[in-house]
Amino acid sequence: MLKYMTGVAAAALLLATASPVLAGNVAADKAAIEAGLDKGYARLDALYKDIHQNPELGFQETATAAKLAKEMRALGFEVTEGVGKTGIVAIYRNGKGPTVLVRTELDGLPMEEKTGLPYASRAVADWNGKPSPVAHSCGHDIHMAAWVGTAQALIAMKAKWRGTLMFIGQPSEETVTGARAMLADGLFERFPKPDVGFALHVGPGPAGMVSYRPGVNSSNSDSLDITFHGKGGHGSTPHVTIDPVIEAARFTMDVQTVISREKDATQFGVITVGSIQSGSAGNIIPDKAVVRGTVRSFDAGVREVLLNGIRRTANAVAAMAGAPAPDVQLVSGGRAVINDAALTARTATVFKAAFGERAVLAPGPGSASEDYSEFIMAGVPSLFFSIGGHDPALAAAARARGEALPANHHPGFAPMPEPSIRTGVTAMTLAVLNVMAP
Ligand SMILES: [Zn+2]
Ligand SMILES: [Zn+2]
Repeated sequence: MLKYMTGVAAAALLLATASPVLAGNVAADKAAIEAGLDKGYARLDALYKDIHQNPELGFQETATAAKLAKEMRALGFEVTEGVGKTGIVAIYRNGKGPTVLVRTELDGLPMEEKTGLPYASRAVADWNGKPSPVAHSCGHDIHMAAWVGTAQALIAMKAKWRGTLMFIGQPSEETVTGARAMLADGLFERFPKPDVGFALHVGPGPAGMVSYRPGVNSSNSDSLDITFHGKGGHGSTPHVTIDPVIEAARFTMDVQTVISREKDATQFGVITVGSIQSGSAGNIIPDKAVVRGTVRSFDAGVREVLLNGIRRTANAVAAMAGAPAPDVQLVSGGRAVINDAALTARTATVFKAAFGERAVLAPGPGSASEDYSEFIMAGVPSLFFSIGGHDPALAAAARARGEALPANHHPGFAPMPEPSIRTGVTAMTLAVLNVMAP
């Protein structure tokens, strides 16, 4: 019935029909995926290490995109490069059925890798006009290898599904701008609009584990950048000045009452001032102070309360000082990733059948942010799930010492490529097959 429908109707049906997942079928599919991996894993490992050693920063990922484009063309995908500057879109049509999005990120981070791995990155690139070391310290290289491996598995099993695969390589996730760049470049107009979407992220859980949660998966992120204006003068004559240092200090303290007195106490919300810049000497009252921070929330209503509270507190603080109104800039970073409940439930059944107790419901959303949310807000019901990357033995040893292994964005973050890539391929392929089986 699905094959006679398109767009929203198909997506609604796709998500509503909890067709019984047969454990036997899942086991057979998993065995077929793993047999393919046994044959092809060495090539995926080589691709992973090549990408790991040659990371590129956001919107500079031309060599990375070219590597992925080459792999996808070899599989028979129709590949368009340069979507959203450096992004790629790979389409494979296999009869009538839903269009399914599978997304990987392409970018690394402007930081030095300190893993000591033989294939550690020594790359250097331009970052805001200055040379910076570059490393895949968020694990996007694992995602790219799993993305290619998933495409390989799905093509090898193409008798088992119908529809259109839309594999996208998204630039500049770390600056939380790449998804918007692809959408602004006509992602869902020049190419089919997906009925459902999937993405995964490797994290600090034990390698081999898969976790998921319905609803909120990651936080809304906004940055605050406020310039308080004053009137400078001698430190000995404060009465003839307007002291912006006092404004900044008062704001930093008072804004926390937005969290403690205005936000619903049962809801997550954070306002952190991470930088206050003002003045040059102890005996000079400066004429301005710049306060920068980050704002995190899960709920859209809570986000509004926090942003309004920040604006109101900044203006009130300036008014109390008799100062001109401050310049308040609140810039939206990533919005919360909200997983589709029906798609999550449907996929979780398959994950449990395939991975047993290594498939777990995540205890809560993460406070990190992710711009995959842009695709969801553009109308693609999705599941963004996680795979573990840490060596369980090393993690246990670290725990025994009262420590934790380095996680994402740490210079020592070193997810195990195997089995993480295999787990990513198996989980993603099963998730896609589950929504595309005729
Ligand atoms: Zn990251
Ligand atoms: Zn990441």
